[in-house]
Amino acid sequence: MKLIRFGDPGKEKPGVILPDGKKIDVTAHVEDYNMAFFQSGGLDSLSEWLESNSTSAPVIRDHLRLGPPVAETSKIVCVGLNYADHAKEGGMAIPTEPILFFKATSAIVGPNDDMVIPRNSTKSDWEVELAVIIGKKASYVSEEYALDYVAGYCVHNDYSEREFQLERGGQWVKGKSCDTFAPIGPFLATKDEVEDVHNLRLWLKVNGEMKQDGNTSDFIFGVPHLISYISNFMTLLPGDIISTGTPAGVGLGFNPPQYLKPGDEVELGIEGLGASRQRIRAYDG
Ligand code: ZN
Repeated sequence: MKLIRFGDPGKEKPGVILPDGKKIDVTAHVEDYNMAFFQSGGLDSLSEWLESNSTSAPVIRDHLRLGPPVAETSKIVCVGLNYADHAKEGGMAIPTEPILFFKATSAIVGPNDDMVIPRNSTKSDWEVELAVIIGKKASYVSEEYALDYVAGYCVHNDYSEREFQLERGGQWVKGKSCDTFAPIGPFLATKDEVEDVHNLRLWLKVNGEMKQDGNTSDFIFGVPHLISYISNFMTLLPGDIISTGTPAGVGLGFNPPQYLKPGDEVELGIEGLGASRQRIRAYDG
C-alpha cells in the first residue's frame, strides 16, 4: 500500500494511493497513521478494509496538499556517512560503526512544502535519503528479525546547514533540525511494495540539474544492521524514522561548495517511493 496524509498542516487526514493512481480518503476506517495505528495492526486491517471499500471511498482531489505520511514520530535517527563516496567527498573516514545523530521532529514537513533557509544561514545544503518507518516497538532486535519491525519506506531530504553542523562546535544536531529541514514523502510505501531495499536508485536535482544519483546498493550498513544496531541503544517506537544516509553530490562536496538560495527548486526521488519537490525561500519571520 501507498499511504498518504493530506490537508492543511497539522490537520492532515489519512489516505491511500490505489494501484491505478487514484487517491482515496480512508478516514472512515483510520483515524491517522499514528503510533496507535501501527501498534494495533492497522496496516493489516486497512489492507483488508480496502478490499471491499476502495471503490466507494471518497476520492481526494489532486491539488490538495500532502503532509508527511506518518504522524506522531517520536524521533528521527539519522545515520551519517553511510555511503563511501559521500564520506570521501566530505573528507571523512569510512565509519567502522554506524554514526548516529538526531534530527528534531519539529523539522518535519510535507514533501512539497517550501524549505525555509534559517535565519543567519549561508550554507544550507541538500541530502536525498531513504527513510525507514518503524511499525513495531523495537528493543534489542536481532538483524535476522529486524525487517519485521519496519512499516515501510519514504523519501526524505535531510536538509543540513553546514556552518551550524560543522563550524559551530558540538553536535551535528544544530545543522539538521531547523524548521522545514525534513520533508518526508510523498507517500509511505509499505514494506511489501519494495522488492529489494538494498537496490533502489535515489537522485536529487537542484534547478533541474542532477546533483546526486546513487543507489542504496552502496550502503556501508544495510537496513537490518541499522535497526538492530540502533535498537541496542534506544527503543524505536512505531512512527519513528531512521534516515539511512546520503550518497555523494551534496553541495558541500563541490569545489567550491554550492549552497541553496531563495528561489531555487529542489527535486528528489527514490525508485518506487515517488518524488518530492521543495521551493527554497528566505526566512521572513
Ligand atoms: Zn543525512
